[in-house]
Amino acid sequence: MKSICVYCGSNAGSKPAYTERAIALGDRIAKEGLQLVYGGGNVGLMGIVADAVLAAGGEVVGVIPEQLVNWEVAHKGVTRLEVVANMHERKKRMFDLSDAFVALPGGFGTLDEMFEMLTWRQLGIGDKPCAFLDVEGFYMPLMGMIDRMVEERFLHPEQRNDLWHGDDLDAMVAWMRAYTPAQADKWMDEKRRKSLR
Ligand code: AMP
Repeated sequence: MKSICVYCGSNAGSKPAYTERAIALGDRIAKEGLQLVYGGGNVGLMGIVADAVLAAGGEVVGVIPEQLVNWEVAHKGVTRLEVVANMHERKKRMFDLSDAFVALPGGFGTLDEMFEMLTWRQLGIGDKPCAFLDVEGFYMPLMGMIDRMVEERFLHPEQRNDLWHGDDLDAMVAWMRAYTPAQADKWMDEKRRKSLR
């Protein structure tokens, strides 16, 4: 594992705990000798993670669509800023550059990016670890929803078990370093699975 992608809020959230966790994650990424790949913004938790990696002597690659640079939120101090044409290109580029994905608390943008990685992975596009690094139970309702998808047979339990959720940074890093992807099918129905083999 050489680089880690962090998705997180372009706002900083309501509690100091969100900022503290973003700083701890950035610091840890640098100390693990990993490169940070992120959305290139200088706002909210995004800017805080990037600054923490830089402050600890690590490398930061930002991937930002032209439109967001023009809104003047691009981080000017990152190691490398890649400007891409649009959000779709950005997602693909961030995926290509990264060996693992972490979501800190965030809003629509954070979930959109993380869920795209999870859906690509269950379709067999990429097999990189995906983790929700929680802060004070922020992601508990989402995990409840994901468990519901499993219970209602919309999601394979192995796909559920293949994503990490927790608030222990040490445990997350250890899990990522030891990660082997689940071999789970997307399909719940055995007949459908066999017909596709
Ligand atoms: P949100 O969770 O809705 O705040 O969106 C944050 C995620 O969307 C980040 O991971 C970014 O990749 C992207 N994003 C949203 N707003 C911005 C912004 N102003 N600058 C850069 N990226 C952004």
